[in-house]
Amino acid sequence: MKLLDPITEFQSELQQIRRDIHAHPELCFEEQRTANVVAQKLTEWGIPIIRGMGITGVVGMISNGAGTRGIGLRADMDALPVQEINSFPHASKHAGKMHACGHDGHVAMLLGAARYLSKHRNFDGTVYLIFQPAEEGGGGAKKMMDDGLFSQCPMDAVFGMHNWPGIATGTFGATAGPMMASSNEFEVVVRGKGAHAAQPHKGIDPIMVAIQIAQSWQTIVTRSKSPIDSAVLSITQIHAGSATNVIPDEACLIGTVRTFTTDVLDLVEQRMRTIAEHTAQAFDAQVDFRFTRNYPPLVNHAKETAFAIEVMKSIVGENMVNTHVEPTMGAEDFAFMLQEKPGCYVFLGNGEGGHRDCGHGIGPCNLHNPSYDFNDQLLPIGATYWVRLVEAYLPNT
Ligand SMILES: [Zn+2]
Ligand SMILES: [Zn+2]
Repeated sequence: MKLLDPITEFQSELQQIRRDIHAHPELCFEEQRTANVVAQKLTEWGIPIIRGMGITGVVGMISNGAGTRGIGLRADMDALPVQEINSFPHASKHAGKMHACGHDGHVAMLLGAARYLSKHRNFDGTVYLIFQPAEEGGGGAKKMMDDGLFSQCPMDAVFGMHNWPGIATGTFGATAGPMMASSNEFEVVVRGKGAHAAQPHKGIDPIMVAIQIAQSWQTIVTRSKSPIDSAVLSITQIHAGSATNVIPDEACLIGTVRTFTTDVLDLVEQRMRTIAEHTAQAFDAQVDFRFTRNYPPLVNHAKETAFAIEVMKSIVGENMVNTHVEPTMGAEDFAFMLQEKPGCYVFLGNGEGGHRDCGHGIGPCNLHNPSYDFNDQLLPIGATYWVRLVEAYLPNT
């Protein structure tokens, strides 16, 4: 592995920064302390910053030479509403909040790159270090874009990275095209007519209608879309009734839809609506259909992905880069950035959890799990990747 010496020398300090952020997790758009840590470090290293973009977002800017090209590197900063069960010294100090997705590590890796790039300016152009709030459902990426990220910080491409448990430590993975799914949610209320449970003929049973709708929806995945395309339709909540002898007025179906393309999403949403409305009509019931699109599919651009893969190979070697990593139905708001700018999002293997100190919980070291912890061995690897990406993308002529 070819890591940059000045970064490995700085590793224990990066680890301190990472663990300090881990101990002080902050939720969507509340990342004031984290943003202060980021801003203070960048300022200490002489890097000009913009604050308040996307409420708590911070952008650091490092320019060198006369080049006019720019590159964006993005790290997310927010934590999750999870009660941590690890008991090591850097475990969360805030009840009910935890860095269970490793964004503490993402911040530290980008800070490591920032420090190196500010001292060794072996590039020509401008690097934008994007510290983003609210990835976990808040759409912080979109909020920063709405606040002028790409107009104030003109960049030619933007790159993202996420630690990935279950992939060997220090192994990179990326794939051109769709790599993460669109995330959408629905809430469908079937309105019938309540009645005595012993006199069902005097009412309209919304539970029977909801069951018909729920079962018919599954045919969208198996019968309506092409078998080559991917889609998930999961009903995760069904609510109706409050007594054994009463047919209720309403039944509610709630859940999520995931797809890799907007075309498939359009199809699924339209079929869900048609089935819900027509099934309700067949039983003289009515339906309120609500479908909300949250994050779009994350689609890596082919050229930038090939570029990033070469950089990864130059650091960890060919065997440690999976160039066709399996896409996941999870979602990621970096997808918004890739809709406007070419770029690539990569996974960096977090291992199986063997890195965890004593005092970790007994659960698996998976993302969003209360026993999770970011693997500090990744700090110099991720930071080196960012630096090498910049030096390759903005070569010093
Ligand atoms: Zn997450
Ligand atoms: Zn995450």
